[in-house]
Amino acid sequence: MNTKKAKSKNKQCFIVVVLLILSIVVVIKASVNLIQNDKETTSSSEQSSLSPSSTKELTHYNKHVTLTFDDGPSSAYTPVLLDALKAEQVTATFFLLGQNIEGNESLVKRINIENHTVANHTFSHPDLVYEDNTKIESEFAKTDALIYDLTGKKPEFVRTPYGSNNKEVLRIAGRPNILWNVDSMDWDLRDSKRIIDKIMHDVKDGSIILMHDIHKESVEAIPTLITLLHEEGYGIIDLHDLLGTDLKAKNYYNR
Ligand SMILES: [Zn+2]
Repeated sequence: MNTKKAKSKNKQCFIVVVLLILSIVVVIKASVNLIQNDKETTSSSEQSSLSPSSTKELTHYNKHVTLTFDDGPSSAYTPVLLDALKAEQVTATFFLLGQNIEGNESLVKRINIENHTVANHTFSHPDLVYEDNTKIESEFAKTDALIYDLTGKKPEFVRTPYGSNNKEVLRIAGRPNILWNVDSMDWDLRDSKRIIDKIMHDVKDGSIILMHDIHKESVEAIPTLITLLHEEGYGIIDLHDLLGTDLKAKNYYNR
């Protein structure tokens, strides 16, 4: 009898231990799942920081364009442009000249903080196809270093001055060279209404629009331009979102 009792007690103990182990396994599995979910949330929020376009611009419109501004920053006009873009919750890409960064450091930081893309337009705007490799390298490297110091990021995109490039220039740049397919001709027109008319005449789905934030008339055109683009069904999105991922060191005109 006693042995039987002891045996059944042992059996009970064994069942309790098995149940205990099972529940520990369940708890451990649940917490691992939680940690994995946490990781997924983190990586998806990291992903969204790579897509600076506002959700409205991405999803509310079925056609998309991107705005690009060259030759800045300009202490006189870039702040006005940033205010206008902020008011409309629109992001853009700024192809900065290294030689214009000195004295405008806080503007470069502001462009970056306000979710725009800071890109490299060389240091002194030479036509790179006429320069030797050392000069081409230093034109990109000096501006990369200035931008890195102010934003903590190496620019992902370059735009060669005048769009001029060849295989060697692209090899040295080592990343996408962003050209354009809508030229506002703002540097020549110098008239807000004519700049807007030129862009609205040429724009299509996927357009990369070229402007310069060193001209008063270009910056003054922005609020009306954004309104008209929206009215025509164009969302204004960031270059990353327009071009997608897996980009090469070659020329890009649009998607
Ligand atoms: Zn330029």
